[in-house]
Amino acid sequence: MRYFIGVDLGGTNIAVGVVNEVGELLGKYSVPTNPSRGFMSVVKDMADACIVVAEKVGLTLDDITSIGVGVPGAVDTRENSVVLAVNLDWRGVPLGDELNKYLDKPVYLGNDADCAALGEIFSGCAKGCSSAVMITIGTGIGGGIIMNKKIFSGCDGRGTEPGHYFMIFGGDTCGCGKKGCFEAYASCTALIRQTKRSMLDNPSSKMWDVCNKNIDTVNGRTAFDAAKLGDEAALAVVDQFITYLAAGTAGLVNIFRPDIVIIGGGVSNEGPYLLDPLNEKLLTLGYGTDLMPYPKAVKATLGNDAGIIGAALLGFSEE
Ligand SMILES: [Zn+2]
Repeated sequence: MRYFIGVDLGGTNIAVGVVNEVGELLGKYSVPTNPSRGFMSVVKDMADACIVVAEKVGLTLDDITSIGVGVPGAVDTRENSVVLAVNLDWRGVPLGDELNKYLDKPVYLGNDADCAALGEIFSGCAKGCSSAVMITIGTGIGGGIIMNKKIFSGCDGRGTEPGHYFMIFGGDTCGCGKKGCFEAYASCTALIRQTKRSMLDNPSSKMWDVCNKNIDTVNGRTAFDAAKLGDEAALAVVDQFITYLAAGTAGLVNIFRPDIVIIGGGVSNEGPYLLDPLNEKLLTLGYGTDLMPYPKAVKATLGNDAGIIGAALLGFSEE
């Protein structure tokens, strides 16, 4: 059995784990990132954390085949460097080489959302599939494309941005500064905006009760919670949101034709209230659904572990 270490590098924590070649997470460890202390210091702690986690599961670095890091930003897989990670204030830093100095192991870098998708393929909801489109609904829309059990990261290895293709040209403003991106309509931020708009138009909606009459406390659950009480305005918000999500997803499926669609992020916790209508709408919006099998949208199952497992198996997936 071979063993790999995955590092899920976040703005708050450095989470590391040891994973075997069948995708089992054997042990985890984490330390604060504290990015303000600078790149070199963070990398040193990443290396120390790798040694600690190996020992925790009864191994040493000699037993580890390779190390993978999921980075919250854009990576250059050819240069093994981080192009831009806004949360860490890193621009053009040689992360692969620097980490290798401490550990003397092959180091692979990937975008964190891509790593999560890879983790779900190896040991989560998409186990057994070889291709997937993952859509993570959070503040923005993160996403990953997996083809033949590898991350599809474009011609220059810098990754894809499925949250930022134009869905409604000139539409709502996106976090990226452009207008009309998929993310501007189907992220949790967009859902909150759509919920507030509807509440202002519908003063008697139960959405007001759900958020204790305080519109500033609206979150991604408000419209879903009121819809479950049968509130007409909330039902319309939820239906419209899922229609946007389905439209964007159908576009991605038309391009990549994956085995499966993975939905992650907080909104995915709505489970069947989100996924059943989403799958119905996909069958209406998708191309050729009456002629050929269509991929099903399912909920991501690994949570935060997906990023560690996917990062660990970056090297394995490249073999
Ligand atoms: Zn955008």
